[in-house]
Amino acid sequence: MEYNTVLLTRSEEDVKKAADIIKNGGVVGMPTETVYGLAANALDPKAVEKIFQAKGRPMDNPLIVHIADKADMEKLAEDIPDAAYKLAEKFWPGPLTMVLKKKSIVPDVTSGGLDTVGIRLPVHHTARELISECGVPVAAPSANLSGSPSPTAAEHVMNDMKGRIPAVVDGGMCPVGIESTVVCFEDGAVKILRPGFISGEDFTRAGFQVVYAKGITEELDAGEKPLSPGMKYKHYSPKANVTIVSGTLEQFTAYVKEHNGKNTYSMIFDDDILSFPYRYMTYGNTVQEQARMLFHVLREMDIVGAEQVFVRCPVTVGAGLAVYNRLLRAAAFEVVRL
Ligand code: AMP
Ligand code: MG
Repeated sequence: MEYNTVLLTRSEEDVKKAADIIKNGGVVGMPTETVYGLAANALDPKAVEKIFQAKGRPMDNPLIVHIADKADMEKLAEDIPDAAYKLAEKFWPGPLTMVLKKKSIVPDVTSGGLDTVGIRLPVHHTARELISECGVPVAAPSANLSGSPSPTAAEHVMNDMKGRIPAVVDGGMCPVGIESTVVCFEDGAVKILRPGFISGEDFTRAGFQVVYAKGITEELDAGEKPLSPGMKYKHYSPKANVTIVSGTLEQFTAYVKEHNGKNTYSMIFDDDILSFPYRYMTYGNTVQEQARMLFHVLREMDIVGAEQVFVRCPVTVGAGLAVYNRLLRAAAFEVVRL
């Protein structure tokens, strides 16, 4: 079905319009603090199928279910460990998804056929208003075409989803800019399945034991199944070939000099610009800025027709690990260490 996609504002009236679409089994582009999501009634298999169709997403890749109230966690999940309540107390609302044993009310299509469900309580004001107004939990994967960089502005959603969904709510630029931290629980420890803005260090500081799933910074072996299904897909990629280059600015500059081609761009830090003589886009200095800018800049690379992108390697601790993890996927794990 071809839609005439409308751009809605975050006014109360428009949020109500968006909620009506979702209540009637439709799909809406929704702003959250992480990235824009494609939102539909998580408990309605037909509505959820429309999300997969709009994105072109593989059916075994589960969706995160968004709630507006902590108490709703118990409507969707059972056998919830103590640690999950503690994490919710500390980090919800916010960019944290917890994978828990699902109740039968959650359709298989929502959980990608798994017996678990990823649940998140977002902090973004418009997202929470919209979910509350719907009166149902809302399944919402990132609102990009499958494999493309996640959308961090309504314009990005429009570019990917125009004609494919009835409406997008414009909530401005996403303040975090990368997808949520996904965790599950293992023998009392918090296991990080996908790194995000809330980092392993944050969990440790809050008194939790932390383990990392395989596949976050290293490529999985052929046929190996990640615990977080989305991690097996090539992801977040612009059309260009992306290469991460680790080293000092001097080393990076020398490397680009040697490999500079017709449509080569570099992704550098804001502080680099005074001494970098080649074509570039910047993605901030701090980890916070880099998270917020990352997908925006990767999309800009497509717009200018970049064919090769060299990226200055970010720091890989704290939330930097999440930025590095997304870049590794965009780069298909190609890292040059100088
Ligand atoms: P997206 O919302 O597009 O960022 O995708 C959601 C991602 O969350 C999926 O690709 C999975 O990696 C992860 N996820 C969601 N639900 C589960 C689950 N039940 N078990 C493990 N990982 C999950
Ligand atoms: Mg995604």
